[in-house]
Amino acid sequence: MPELPEVETTVRGLASSLDGARIERIVLNRADMRRPFPDGLVQRLTGARVTGLGRRAKYGLIHTDRDATLVFHLGMSGRWRIDPSTPDKHDHLVLETADHTYALNDARRFGFVDLVETDALDAWPAFAALGPEPLGEELTADHLKRALKGRKAAIKLMLLDQGTVAGLGNIYVCEALWLAGIDPRRAAGKVTKPALERLVPAIRDVLERSIGDGGSTLRDYAKPDGTLGYFATRFAVYGREAKPCLREDGGKIRRIAQGGRSTWFCPKCQR
Ligand SMILES: [Zn+2]
Repeated sequence: MPELPEVETTVRGLASSLDGARIERIVLNRADMRRPFPDGLVQRLTGARVTGLGRRAKYGLIHTDRDATLVFHLGMSGRWRIDPSTPDKHDHLVLETADHTYALNDARRFGFVDLVETDALDAWPAFAALGPEPLGEELTADHLKRALKGRKAAIKLMLLDQGTVAGLGNIYVCEALWLAGIDPRRAAGKVTKPALERLVPAIRDVLERSIGDGGSTLRDYAKPDGTLGYFATRFAVYGREAKPCLREDGGKIRRIAQGGRSTWFCPKCQR
């Protein structure tokens, strides 16, 4: 499932040639993905110039000079194919510029696109309640201190809550808490300021490392023979149940369930 780093990598990949280009043609190969394509999409964006690309949480943004932003979500299996050599039956939306073709391909169709007035993006329902971007300047220890004040829920669960920080998935929360040395079970309101001061750069660090690698989903790291060796060695705690902690502190990684999902952590160095 594409997580924030995959979406960021996708946006950067598209931006390198799409930013500044004119959309000459749009082809919709079906009426919907998870949701119907927005009314007037082809009409509104044909001839539009792309004025910039961006990302909010796990959504990609293609801004245009028509005061309209094409918002895309990759769902479970979505990806953009640039200049595909052959068409694919799962290419649901195709954008053509003078130099390139961009096909939004999604076999499982959990992804979708919407067309939103650029000035009104912050009020778009999925964005209205989002916390700050983890890679932006608004995420600070002070923000977390305020957002978590008095909260009895576990810090792990509060970090997965998109209202605390936008776009963090399970892998990255587990990894960031290990890097910051914070016990995922600790009541969020009881996490100290110094610990939050460590947590903010830890979150950025795990995300930036994955962006550098082009994302971290299992699919991307399967070797040609289908094994997942790289995936298993890449993370400090995620998926490393019963293995020794990389800090060599004598701790063994534990897996517990929190909010119906697995958490991996080291009971020795995460307090
Ligand atoms: Zn440890």
